[in-house]
Amino acid sequence: MKIVYTINELLAFKKELIGTIGLVPTMGALHNGHLSLIRKAKEQNDAVIVSIFVNPAQFGPNEDFNAYPRKKEADLKICKLCDVDIVFMPDASQIYNEIEPTIQAPASLAYILEGQMRPGHFDGVLRVVLKLLNLTMPTKAYFGKKDAQQLFLIENMVKTLFLPVEIVPMNIIREDDGLAISSRNIYLSHEERNKALLISLALKNASQAIMKGERDARVLEDIMSKTLCGLDVEYTKVLSRDFYSKDVVIIGETILLIAARVGKTRLIDNLWI
Ligand code: AMP
Repeated sequence: MKIVYTINELLAFKKELIGTIGLVPTMGALHNGHLSLIRKAKEQNDAVIVSIFVNPAQFGPNEDFNAYPRKKEADLKICKLCDVDIVFMPDASQIYNEIEPTIQAPASLAYILEGQMRPGHFDGVLRVVLKLLNLTMPTKAYFGKKDAQQLFLIENMVKTLFLPVEIVPMNIIREDDGLAISSRNIYLSHEERNKALLISLALKNASQAIMKGERDARVLEDIMSKTLCGLDVEYTKVLSRDFYSKDVVIIGETILLIAARVGKTRLIDNLWI
């Protein structure tokens, strides 16, 4: 496994790779969610590149960029165990220049849900993903459904800019008790972690109502909000999978989304219906 810090090293080692390449972009603090992406990339490609980069461009001024968990040694061990070919760990000076074109997420999606709560976030995400795709030229790139809006925007960018890569969406990996795994879960105290379970419970309650025949989006949003009682809820939403507002659930075309703060920690989760 090659560990590379600079673009020059990356390009040099990439030349030695033979066959298809799978790219797994991450911000590190690797967990079972990331692992599922890396394993799938190994399964489907001749070589795998994992990038570990806490991308400053996607953090707002009052967000947790400095506090974001960084676990270089543990991450490298995990990558080694997964037989990753290249781990790319650049610093920001490798990735960003003072003068460069602006990449903007489409306005209709950039300022709703995550974009409303985190203005500029998706511009930063698309900027780094486009750069990572251009640098690694992968056959396939792997992204989690956990960040559903991000996944949709990346798929949209790839499609509309005709980027020669296949985006592979990966299911959300959860703890046994239902909590969606996230690098930010380590911020939670024991008590907060118990409270955070309400988020996956809210999704479950809404999906059970759907199974019993409920189709009204507002009723389902209400079911989720009520389950989340006691948490600082940012949104509970029922949308089509292309992020249009929906009044009625259509099975196979719908996504339930939640964002809530538990103490100081902001958590997101969703369920594809
Ligand atoms: P991050 O390091 O948080 O930027 O995540 C890197 C990639 O892993 C993104 O595509 C995420 O959507 C994905 N990911 C994060 N958590 C999970 C999870 N619990 N299950 C599946 N994918 C995940």
